[in-house]
Amino acid sequence: MMTAKTINLMTNEEFEAICTRCGACCGAYDGDPCEELRQGNDGLYYCRVYKTRLGPHHTIKGLEMDCVPITTKLKESWVGDELCAYKKLLKEGKL
Ligand code: SF4
Ligand code: SF4
Repeated sequence: MMTAKTINLMTNEEFEAICTRCGACCGAYDGDPCEELRQGNDGLYYCRVYKTRLGPHHTIKGLEMDCVPITTKLKESWVGDELCAYKKLLKEGKL
């Protein structure tokens, strides 16, 4: 069973591997996702510019938006956030 301590000891790669690529944090379910969001043949979402993602972007409808690290928005709400694996861990007191 994963504990708060094991999460604190995770490498960046291990932390990122928690993400299930549901796409919710990038607007996949709010009707106006980030223009960099893509869906793979496996049905999972990915970011077209992941390595340089942080900073200003636009939604597909042209609205300005900022891409921020997921850790900075875990206490916010967004459409589909019940799918977020990090939010689930936070709710369980494991993050
Ligand atoms: S730039 Fe940020 S918000 Fe846009 S798809 Fe990539 S990770 Fe998601
Ligand atoms: S909402 Fe959470 S689990 Fe889904 S893609 Fe974003 S960070 Fe990953």
